[in-house]
Amino acid sequence: MVDFIADYYKNIETFPVLSQVEPGYLQKLLPDSAPMQPESLQAVLQEVESAILPGVTHWQSPDYFAYFPSNSSVAGFLGEMLSAGINMVGFSWITSPAATELEMIVLDWLANLLNLPQHFLSKGPGGGAIQGTASEALLVVLLASRDKVLRQVGKDALRRLVVYGSDQTHSSLQKACQIAGVHPENLRLLRTERCNEYALSPESLTDAISHDVASGLIPLFLCATVGTTSSTAVDPLLALGKITKRYGIWFHVDAAYAGSACICPEYRHHLNGIEEADSFNMNCHKWFLTNFDCSALWIKDRNALIQSLSTNPEYLKNKASQGSTVIDYKDWQIPLGRRFRSLKLWMVLRLYGVENLQSYIRNHIKLAQHFEHLVAQDSRFEIVATRTFSLVCFRLLPSNKTEEYVNKLNHDLLDAVNSSGKIFISHTVLSGKYILRFVVGAPLTEERHVIAAWKLFQEAASSLLENS
Ligand code: PLP
Repeated sequence: MVDFIADYYKNIETFPVLSQVEPGYLQKLLPDSAPMQPESLQAVLQEVESAILPGVTHWQSPDYFAYFPSNSSVAGFLGEMLSAGINMVGFSWITSPAATELEMIVLDWLANLLNLPQHFLSKGPGGGAIQGTASEALLVVLLASRDKVLRQVGKDALRRLVVYGSDQTHSSLQKACQIAGVHPENLRLLRTERCNEYALSPESLTDAISHDVASGLIPLFLCATVGTTSSTAVDPLLALGKITKRYGIWFHVDAAYAGSACICPEYRHHLNGIEEADSFNMNCHKWFLTNFDCSALWIKDRNALIQSLSTNPEYLKNKASQGSTVIDYKDWQIPLGRRFRSLKLWMVLRLYGVENLQSYIRNHIKLAQHFEHLVAQDSRFEIVATRTFSLVCFRLLPSNKTEEYVNKLNHDLLDAVNSSGKIFISHTVLSGKYILRFVVGAPLTEERHVIAAWKLFQEAASSLLENS
């Protein structure tokens, strides 16, 4: 299997980056039922090659520039292998003390690397935990904040709780609200403006809160973002944080993608104001060479989380837990069972070292800058939002055409480059404009891939403009 995977990486550039299969393709290739007798691994691997790989979109391809990256690395892979080999289920300290303690240590290391406030470290009342995804991280802290307030004002107040974000906040906030029972009318996704680079303005937050308080509602939770999904906008944490303090609102900071860049001193200022936050999250499985899944969540007051999520059935009771001297991570998350995910993050930090991780981030940002420069030189294109990290938002903009025409043209351009199989990018809509998102972040991407991608855009654009 290791050889098979090594060959996969050797040949990864030969596959179409975006899978080109039609829905239902696999059912036509595989039998209707499981085999009664065992088959050989060789036969299975042959089928992986003939049936599975055609249906894979190659996120590790150097020509993958879509969504946000989902990094794999040898270090991350080795950590995953070891975790699969040991295969323990570390829900309480006693079920594998090393799993809990390594997670605490590694998240303290990472917190220090990001220069997070001391209250997020495990020796105080807070601490870090690895969640599966940023969505789960957001959900658990929303539940913690909800229950903390409901304990004070009574359960009947659920209908009056209000959650704030911006129209650029990831949709996981909406989902978390749905699960937490926040009334759909009480989710305020405040409008951002292009002139403000799509960041949440403190004034609009204050206005919304004042209005809600005057209406007898209870401001509960703010989710600010460092590196929004559409354009990597950075919300002004310090100003927003001060407002949340004034009103006793839980302040969560989502840095799912851009958090990784903040290990570099020159990008750390994007986290200024993080000391005001009650919780902070970054996805190591995005841009930090740690195989999916590994989402790091830090919380200032772990008791809020534990009070919300703890259960204590007889069959899980043990001396260590009852002594209250250990962390039982089952009380920090939705499921009971949990994998030994800290192993891969530990491997990444140790086998790369901080300096190499910083160079890794800087190199991607440099490549994105290069792409941005190429786009800016071609007058047929427009850069649509300021590039802050490794995402370039751009579009084809022929003169004297309606917005509707331009949107359709860019949609067609996206289709043309993606269906070529040579690269994969994704899109967004900002201020009614259909925009192409080009993110550099795959570990194998080099300058030659970025240059080739740009040539592909230019050729596809020429052909679309000629035929229009
Ligand atoms: N927050 C931001 C800013 C994101 O960009 C994403 C996904 O790309 C998420 C949250 C959700 O991430 P996850 O898939 O880990 O839930």
